[in-house]
Amino acid sequence: MSERCVYCGMRLEERAVRARIDGETLFFCSQRCAVLYKAMGPKGKVKARIQSERIEIIERLEAKRGTRVLTLVHRREPWAEGEGGLITIEDSEALVAQIRRTPPEKPIDLIMHTPGGIVLAAEMIAMAVKKHPGQVTAIVPFYAMSGGSMIALAAHELQMDQESILGPLDPQIDGFPSRSLITLPARKPVEVISDQMLVLSEMAQRSVDQVKEFVKWILEDKLPPKDRDAVAVFLTGGYLSHDTPIVPRVLKELGLNVKEGIPDEVYELFRTYEFGTCARPQCAAY
Ligand SMILES: [Zn+2]
Repeated sequence: MSERCVYCGMRLEERAVRARIDGETLFFCSQRCAVLYKAMGPKGKVKARIQSERIEIIERLEAKRGTRVLTLVHRREPWAEGEGGLITIEDSEALVAQIRRTPPEKPIDLIMHTPGGIVLAAEMIAMAVKKHPGQVTAIVPFYAMSGGSMIALAAHELQMDQESILGPLDPQIDGFPSRSLITLPARKPVEVISDQMLVLSEMAQRSVDQVKEFVKWILEDKLPPKDRDAVAVFLTGGYLSHDTPIVPRVLKELGLNVKEGIPDEVYELFRTYEFGTCARPQCAAY
């Protein structure tokens, strides 16, 4: 008998419900779960079984590390047609609520894999991460770019593989790198720049100023003021192209708290996702 409910992933008690569905004998925690599972279409059934498997892996990791494990993973789901996605307001609402529900002293492991996304959503998550009283470890097995990098930097500790990467935090405005927009009026007479580009140029300056201050704030308890300001300028000023990989060695040189090594359970979790067509880091909206 499998140890967990096929539908909800709950550990099975002695009173597990047995049901024969699609020629298979399956076990559920309750009649309700059996009925709900039976009513699902083929894709829904795939989703329920994979999510149940993920719960089992995550609970194992939580028991091993004594942490609450949360995930922010944008990789294609085996049951979905669409791509892996970006950081959205829905992500931030879900994750912020999960962080708030975690007891204050409980350490959190945040498993991250994302090309970035909406600035506001990333900032909301970063604030919740920074303010959690227990230690928060951002675990990045492959990459967390852009807004994902911002959230990772808000954690008290980073845990990465040697080749895992973060990326620069310079905002992209309407598809343009902010630094290119900011320097535009210095390179061309203002009369020949369109109104739209002038407005974007001003927006870019405000956006960079805001993100830079935010990064200074998330780093204030991690680096001495002078280093903190220099790192914030380096990451937000657009001196690197937006898809430049920043590896653990560089992060350590910047003075950040990076541990190398990813728990096996994290790779096990990633095997439950589809490889391939998630949004590439260079397509990040921010
Ligand atoms: Zn159940």
